[in-house]
This record gives sequence, C-alpha cells and structure tokens, in this order.
Amino acid sequence: MNLDPALNADLHCHSVVSDGTLTPEALAQRAKAAGVQLWALTDHDEIGGQQRAIAAARAVGLPYLTGTEISVTFAGRVVHIVGLGFDPTATEIVEGLRTTRGGRGPRAREMAAGLAAVGIPGAFEGALTYVGNPDLISRTHFARFLVDAGHCADVPEVFRRFLTEGKPGFVPHKWASLKDAVGWITRAGGIAVIAHPGRYDFTPTEEYALITEFIAHGGRGIEVVTGSHTPAEFVEYADTALEFGLLASRGSDFHSPDESRIDLGTLPPLAARLTPVWAELADRIHR
Ligand code: AMP
Ligand code: MN
Ligand code: MN
Ligand code: MN
Repeated sequence: MNLDPALNADLHCHSVVSDGTLTPEALAQRAKAAGVQLWALTDHDEIGGQQRAIAAARAVGLPYLTGTEISVTFAGRVVHIVGLGFDPTATEIVEGLRTTRGGRGPRAREMAAGLAAVGIPGAFEGALTYVGNPDLISRTHFARFLVDAGHCADVPEVFRRFLTEGKPGFVPHKWASLKDAVGWITRAGGIAVIAHPGRYDFTPTEEYALITEFIAHGGRGIEVVTGSHTPAEFVEYADTALEFGLLASRGSDFHSPDESRIDLGTLPPLAARLTPVWAELADRIHR
C-alpha cells in the first residue's frame, strides 16, 4: 500500500443506506472516476452497505476500507465518530449500531409533530418517501421533503429554520456514548476517528476534553481535510493531530451530486508532515 499522505483517499461519504442519494455501487464508480485511490463508505450508524461497497469497489479496482459514522452524545452535544477498517460482522458493533439506530423512528415522529404544529402536516410520511433504509430516517430526509414540498429553497435553509436546536422540528436525542462508539470500532479491529472537529463550535476547553477523553477510550485518529473544514481549519487540525499524536484522515463527506459542495476525491491532500490513518490500516484494505 502507498502510505503517502498525498494519496487521494476519500474516507467519508454517505449512500442511500443512510442519508446519501447514491447507491454504494454508484459511489464506487464515481469515486473511481474521480481518481480516488482508497475509499470508505461511512453511512450514519449503519454498516448494512459494507458488503455491497466492498464488492462494488473490487469490481472497479478501487482499494476499500470498511467505514461508518457513529452519532455520539458528548457533553450534551452531538459529535460524530468515524470508524475505519473494522470487521463489519463483529457482533458488538453490529448490535451497538442497531441500538443506536433504534431511537430514530420515534424521534422522527416527534419531529413531524413539531412541524405539524407550525403548519407543515405529513412530514413523517413525506420524509419516508426519501428514505432508502427504513431503519435510518434522518433530518436530511425531512429536509429533502420540505424543499420539494416548497417550504424552503434548499436543504441548508430547512436546517436553519426548522431542524436545529430551538427550531420547531428539532428533537433532542441521546445517541451512543463516546466510550461505546470508540470501543465498538476498536474492538472490531478498526481505528476510531473524530469526524469534522471544526464543526462542533466547542470552546478550546471543550475540544480539549473531547480529544483527551477520545484518546483515553482508545481513539487514534482525527479528520483534518474534510468537506466541513475551511482551508484555515486544514492547518489548524493538522497542528491538533501532531499535538495529540493522532493519525490524520481525509474525506469529502459527500452526500449527493445535487447537495454536496465537495465531490468525492476533490479536496486538497493531507500535509506531508502528518501520519495518515491509512498508514496503520494497510492490512485491513480490501482489494
Ligand atoms: P441526524 O443524524 O438525523 O441528526 O441528521 C444529521 C445529518 O443532517 C448530517 O449528517 C448532515 O447530513 C445533515 N445536516 C446537519 N446539519 C446540516 C446543515 N446545517 N445543513 C445541511 N445538512 C445538515
Ligand atoms: Mn449526513
Ligand atoms: Mn458528520
Ligand atoms: Mn458524514
């Protein structure tokens, strides 16, 4: 394996198995066509697409790492933890993710009730028509419904007006614990990675707490170059990776050709001073 930090790795994206709009097969083809050299599909709280992704990547000659993005509640906020290179048949992660997903149905019904109260009826049924996996109804599916039903111009507007804290369709939810998410990934032979750290609006003290607790639980990686970061954050989190001795990861967080600003494999490479997460996962790559 090429352990070069400049490898065109894209280790964060979503398919119809969570809140993306493309199938694992279409993503594999799109990644290959974009020049991606190492790919991971990281559906939210789901690994049901992993066997399809492994097969689709192999069919187009694209090296592949298993992936997921786990929703975690940390200090009363939502943090995402990406897992890479784990065994997708390991019982503990399979069952842990099943439990994490379990709250989504009731939460979605509460979200719809909140929206109905402000004059938007039928949002649960509406959102369901956008869902590729009935176990994984997410805010993104509500957002697509609200846009297509004419309530908002685009998905970001739906989040601003309806789906974020304090807004009518927002329902607080308790996700997995940081300890459990990191443990499931690590004990299944993978590496846990803090997803898009620049997105959490944490104070420096809160961010320090997240990173040190993550490391104490066995977490080893951090996303540095992601579609959620500004170029200044590529530098900031490269420094963070070095400061804490973390492996660096790179991923577009691609969801949809119509919605995602950043396409698969198009971000700048990791800085040469970083140790990439794939340097420690060479024996976990599917070819
Ligand atoms: P959920 O896991 O159901 O809470 O949905 C979270 C998903 O909503 C994220 O993975 C993003 O895909 C999407 N999302 C969150 N915030 C925004 C935003 N401000 N604009 C657009 N999409 C967002
Ligand atoms: Mn998403
Ligand atoms: Mn995320
Ligand atoms: Mn994501």
